[in-house]
Amino acid sequence: MFIPEIKSKVNEDISILLKLDNHSHHYICECGDASELSVKDCQNAHAIFLSHTHIDHFINFDTILRHQIGIERKVIICGPKGIIQQVQSKIKGYHWNLIEKGSLTYEVREIIDKNTILIYELEPPTWEIKTIGKLAKNTLFENKKFQVNFTILDHKIPSIAYLFREFDTVKIDIEKSGFKGGKWVRDLKTAFENQAENTAIEVEEKTYLAKDLFYLLNIKKGNSLGIIMDHAANEANHQKIKNLFFECDKVFIECFYKAEDKELAVANFHSYSTQSGKIMKACKVKEAIPVHFSRKYKEEDIELLLNEFENAFF
Ligand SMILES: [Zn+2]
Ligand SMILES: [Zn+2]
Repeated sequence: MFIPEIKSKVNEDISILLKLDNHSHHYICECGDASELSVKDCQNAHAIFLSHTHIDHFINFDTILRHQIGIERKVIICGPKGIIQQVQSKIKGYHWNLIEKGSLTYEVREIIDKNTILIYELEPPTWEIKTIGKLAKNTLFENKKFQVNFTILDHKIPSIAYLFREFDTVKIDIEKSGFKGGKWVRDLKTAFENQAENTAIEVEEKTYLAKDLFYLLNIKKGNSLGIIMDHAANEANHQKIKNLFFECDKVFIECFYKAEDKELAVANFHSYSTQSGKIMKACKVKEAIPVHFSRKYKEEDIELLLNEFENAFF
């Protein structure tokens, strides 16, 4: 289960921290100037996902870097074409002669197109770009709990929208079995996952066929979470959003302008309240959360914007 936390106040730049239940690693989506992102949040982050590098999405990278120096492990940074040079340029703005190799490594995953991801590494003290390899697929990131897919939206520059998809898990009803837990539970789940129904499962000194115990298992569906940042509210972007986020459980979507300012939205390749609500409705998203509002808006403007979004979504 994804547990997202918005770390930016309403008048700050966007930053969302992603946690999962029973999982100690955290993930940062967007590096806007968010005052509620703590030192610990930065230090626990195992990957950072950036949609694009307009200043309101990238300014806080320096602070995250500041807190991550010394964690002595690798952190993955994902972003659009050019991200490797931009991350390196930020880092190279400082002197590193007192920092040793191994105090932090960044693995940068640069999204070139929908099926090409280039992988690099950066390490102190020189932070020279080392080419590691290439992923020829749309899965950008994967671990035991979830995977991340993406689509490249048009914001006059590429803006990556990310879909976090938790894997389904097999659960056992131990009470129903009348047995005590033990190694057999793992053996049974493995047999189920491999569809090996004739596997012998030993429970409390008796042997059963896996298929005779499958009734104790049930599949817990993984949930899905989308992060859709700056994009023009046009047909091509909306089609891509529909393709990736259809029936998604929860989506955070940019809602930079209210409807009255739609000309500004068009000029700046942004979305606005009614369009963001409408596309979330078309996607049949279960929960849609509008985020990332223009800083020129006062409290009452944002209230109006949120109402416009809700009316379009429901
Ligand atoms: Zn932008
Ligand atoms: Zn923005």
